[in-house]
Amino acid sequence: MTTIVQKFGGTSVADVEKIKSAARKAIRAQKAGHQVVMVVSAMGKTTDLLVKLADDITERPAPREMDMLLSTGEQVSVALMAMAIDSLGSHGVSLTGAQIGIRTDNTHTKARIKSIETDRMKQILDEGNIVIAAGFQGMDDELNITTLGRGGSDTTAVALAAVLIADACEIYTDVDGVYTTDPRLLADARRVNQISYDEMLELASLGAGVMHSRSIEFAKKFNVPIHVRSSFTDQPGTMIVAHPESPTAAVSGAALTKEEARISIVGVPDKPGTSLEIFSKVANRNVTVDMIVQNVGTEGKANISFTVPANELTVTLEAIDEATSAMGPVTVTSDDEVSKVSVVGLGMANETGIAAKMFQALADAGINMQMITTSEIKISALVRRDQASEALSIVHRAFELDKPPADAATPKINYTDSKRPQDIEAIVARLGSVDMEELFLDGISLDKEQAVVTINGVPDTPGIAAKVFGEIASEGIFVDMIVQSFGIDSRARLSFTVPKDGIAEAEAAAKKIAADLSCGSVNSAADIAKLSVSGIGLRSHTGVATRMFGALSKAGINVAIISTSEVRVNVIVDGNEGERALECLEQAFADVLR
Ligand code: ADP
Ligand code: ASP
Ligand code: MG
Repeated sequence: MTTIVQKFGGTSVADVEKIKSAARKAIRAQKAGHQVVMVVSAMGKTTDLLVKLADDITERPAPREMDMLLSTGEQVSVALMAMAIDSLGSHGVSLTGAQIGIRTDNTHTKARIKSIETDRMKQILDEGNIVIAAGFQGMDDELNITTLGRGGSDTTAVALAAVLIADACEIYTDVDGVYTTDPRLLADARRVNQISYDEMLELASLGAGVMHSRSIEFAKKFNVPIHVRSSFTDQPGTMIVAHPESPTAAVSGAALTKEEARISIVGVPDKPGTSLEIFSKVANRNVTVDMIVQNVGTEGKANISFTVPANELTVTLEAIDEATSAMGPVTVTSDDEVSKVSVVGLGMANETGIAAKMFQALADAGINMQMITTSEIKISALVRRDQASEALSIVHRAFELDKPPADAATPKINYTDSKRPQDIEAIVARLGSVDMEELFLDGISLDKEQAVVTINGVPDTPGIAAKVFGEIASEGIFVDMIVQSFGIDSRARLSFTVPKDGIAEAEAAAKKIAADLSCGSVNSAADIAKLSVSGIGLRSHTGVATRMFGALSKAGINVAIISTSEVRVNVIVDGNEGERALECLEQAFADVLR
């Protein structure tokens, strides 16, 4: 018998009528012959109200008590849903996270799932009932109630679909699918028929709030087809599956992380171990760090800039204080009025000029990029928050995301067709034996074919990156990694990698533009090595960068450039350290290489 998980978000259960309507959908699926597990969120804005109540009592509510409070929202919903199902002539059994046996770690308010028991759910289903599971919650080893982080019901739903080997996980929400960008921010946004796990994972982690990014980690690990659709119609929505919508489109979506904060630490000692000290202190507080750019400065000092979610700025600054107290005088600056605009697409890994196009569009609108970082499948730029919405709309238009790609896949919403791999039970058994949300790596590689070019003293004005990468793209040279540091004293550093055989042209182009636009010196290095760690959920597992820095610094190897995405972390080190660095990383990650 087929099993379907149906998840209903807050707006989809906001009042009695909507609860009944959700109940009807579940009963309909049951009548069509499926076993149905519903995962339900708290009604409407209940969770926000509970957060506000706590804030009204104290500035720093104990995380354990916060979870006790927040989990009540979902408990109300599941009970009402079970009553609704019964009143409509079927039978539903409500279960809290603890009653299901969703075991998590003890990171209150951001707990990760360790394991899920299926016996009770299976028994309830086999007896002909609908299981109604409370989203977003679990229990730690000491029987404390935990929650998975805001938006976490998606993760509950996909995780249940994974362990039950369900045929699909339907996400019922207030939009009729996944759009090229948040349709509330941009009227031009287009609904896509299909999107790949990798793209959705990246988009979700860069601000596309339609899915909790950790739910996509589960989907990819366990091959769960997800169908995102409206709870108010019966129209098909968007399938999130292994393949992208178009095999050729370079960019498939854009996202905005509006509430971002930038931190710069100026004058840290330039030696292995410094970054480790800083990032491990931040990671210990479970803060997700992005856009890490470090610069070798003068007189043995370096500068490090990175971004964190704006609401985690205070705790991050505390961590930095702790980390830098023994480093001698350093200056820390921060800005919580910035936003991160990103474009994502599997196809950008095969096309030149994608970054140039994004940078040119922003430059034409006079928008300054304060920092830039890229990975194989995304480009992010940090901009002033008051220009963020405009920036999003500009990049969306630049890549014509409002128009469907000519070779877009035809929508296929047939779950039994979506072919879970034969060995899915083996995957579940294998991954079920470790913590389900444990870091998952599938490879570590060494690439010695790249060279790096650096432009120093880049003035803080729009248009320079656009010119540099426009020129290089016009030579047909493929640019791999790009990082632009935050401008200390209004001068930034722009570094990028190109294939070794393109270095002369790339350097010449950079020199020409640097001279035209009064930048500083340009230099290049052909003897570099790029190491990549690939897997799932690498940025949101806050310890990955720390482990990399840790392993490399222990071996005395300096990291020159780092770039991160949810599926890959890359570092550039000195060319003759390549093999040794690879060995270090293989050792450091041996326990999580699957
Ligand atoms: P739910 O309560 O059902 O979980 P959410 O509010 O968490 O709903 O997610 C749905 C919202 O996500 C939409 O209303 C939309 O504004 C927002 N959103 C952000 N990015 C996207 C995107 N790329 N596609 C669709 N919706 C998006
Ligand atoms: N109710 C929780 C929240 O509002 C979880 C969820 O809806 O996914 O964040
Ligand atoms: Mg949600």
